[in-house]
Amino acid sequence: MKIDFSGKIALVTGGTKGIGKQIADDLLKLGADVYVSGRSIEPPAEMQDRADRYLAVDFTDRNNTKRFLDSVSQIERIDICINNAGINRINPIDETLIEDWDDISAVNLDAPFLLTRTVSRIMKTNRYGRIINISSIFGVISKAKRALYSMSKFGLRGLTISSALDLAPYNILVNSVSPGFIMTELTQRILDPAEMVHLAEQVPMGRFAQPEEISRSVLFLASDLNTYITGQNLIIDGGFVNV
Ligand code: NAP
Repeated sequence: MKIDFSGKIALVTGGTKGIGKQIADDLLKLGADVYVSGRSIEPPAEMQDRADRYLAVDFTDRNNTKRFLDSVSQIERIDICINNAGINRINPIDETLIEDWDDISAVNLDAPFLLTRTVSRIMKTNRYGRIINISSIFGVISKAKRALYSMSKFGLRGLTISSALDLAPYNILVNSVSPGFIMTELTQRILDPAEMVHLAEQVPMGRFAQPEEISRSVLFLASDLNTYITGQNLIIDGGFVNV
């Protein structure tokens, strides 16, 4: 069995770094035509030769998001949509800031909701689609200081299940993937090195994952090898949530 995305058109939000970049690069390698979103106005250096496949958007800005959705709705066909862009800010509940919730909910929840609404209209006309929402183990369990992040990721699970039910009759499969601790810029930004060592010790496999370990499962769910899995959440965490 081989995964082949030739002839497929994919869109990956937050495809400029970390898990999203890995997924976008892997989709491209396996033959897909890949649109990538990121915040900077200019495409990243490595996308200069595919600049027309880069979409600039900051999901914390409503007007900006609306322009992005308008551009997406102009794309002739979208077969695969990866709602990956996400942010995290950690604080104990009594010190959380409403501004942080505004940003987290805009990026982690509103964007996947609005984009799913937009792409599902395109996918329905083609009676084909694969949507994968990148959630987190903190959308399944939680941890101190993660109230805002968990609120967003638990919500994303609701979006996944409900939209899977709406879209199943149209051969549009919607699933989520919940990574554990992955070595990306986001992780390095919110955790200090000592905390990373401490967390790795709590993972049964004794280490953080690399982005490609998430991408491989996302690719399967996004591929034609997945014909019947929908509304599910795949936890990829080296065993962490079962401890
Ligand atoms: P990352 O390295 O920080 O990359 C985040 C991506 O999202 C970047 O491409 C970034 O775009 C984009 N982004 C950030 N803020 C945005 C905004 N306001 N508007 C539009 N795009 C924005 O993150 P990551 O670690 O790969 O995480 C990717 C996803 O996996 C997230 O949903 C995260 O919650 C989830 N996740 C990560 C981990 C982990 O351990 N890293 C664990 C579980 C779940 P720019 O490059 O343009 O800034």
